[in-house]
Amino acid sequence: MATFLLQGIYPLGEKLRGLGTPPRALLLGILLGTLLGSLLGLAGARWWRLKPAGAPFAQGQGLQPLLAANTAAARRCARLLGTTEVLTLADPSNYGERRRRDQAGGRVPAAPSLVVLHETVLSLPDTLRLFQTPHPRDADQASYHLLIANNGTLFRLVPDQKRAFGAGWSAWGDATIRHRLADTPLAAGSINNVALHVSLESPADGRGDGDGHAGYSTSQYRSLAQQVLLWQLRWGIPMRRVSTHNAVDRSHSRRDPRSFRWERFDQAWRQAAQRCGVPERYGLEAR
Ligand SMILES: [Zn+2]
Repeated sequence: MATFLLQGIYPLGEKLRGLGTPPRALLLGILLGTLLGSLLGLAGARWWRLKPAGAPFAQGQGLQPLLAANTAAARRCARLLGTTEVLTLADPSNYGERRRRDQAGGRVPAAPSLVVLHETVLSLPDTLRLFQTPHPRDADQASYHLLIANNGTLFRLVPDQKRAFGAGWSAWGDATIRHRLADTPLAAGSINNVALHVSLESPADGRGDGDGHAGYSTSQYRSLAQQVLLWQLRWGIPMRRVSTHNAVDRSHSRRDPRSFRWERFDQAWRQAAQRCGVPERYGLEAR
């Protein structure tokens, strides 16, 4: 085989022919080299499959960088705003742990770093009942961290530190987190591992599948803006990491919160930020 290879490589073959018959040691060396190279190649391919470096677990280089988390500032701001939560925890089958590693053992981000807005579609009592019902089947499990009733009351369903099942197949631009290898079933990424999910109670005319509805109350916008601000301070999240389920969904099946008005949110956010003396770098205009 080695001789054949040598003849195939024209200039080298010419050179060696000029030298006469290639020495046996040289042929043996080439044979061993080829064998070793193939083995190394195979091992390399295997390693790559087990540990896809970088790309398949890409965490979105283009995202606005996180700010420093400041729990003391968050607590102070919550006191100033008079924010309280009603504790109505979801059944444990409906939420889980933020995972620190993917299936191949690589580290994945697990700290809250994105805020996703939703609406319930269902009424408040029906939503609370749904999340407090145990759901053993993965496909039926759902939850948000917080729920905001029509009158602005905050209901705590899942602690921030836990992983709520708010957005299944989802991504932020091209940023997502995959826990399974890219070529295995159910490998499509989700942002749940780093998301904080908050849902607005839909108005009475928003129970169905319509394209829009009457929208959300002033109390809801106020509570939502205050909560987003507290999360921003607590976890160091800049405004451009706050988005909607509609914008992060990749399954083409979610488009909430319908009839949401960002300018009403922004107005409420500016008032809350002013009351807490929150610096500009948390707002929309921050670089
Ligand atoms: Zn949603």
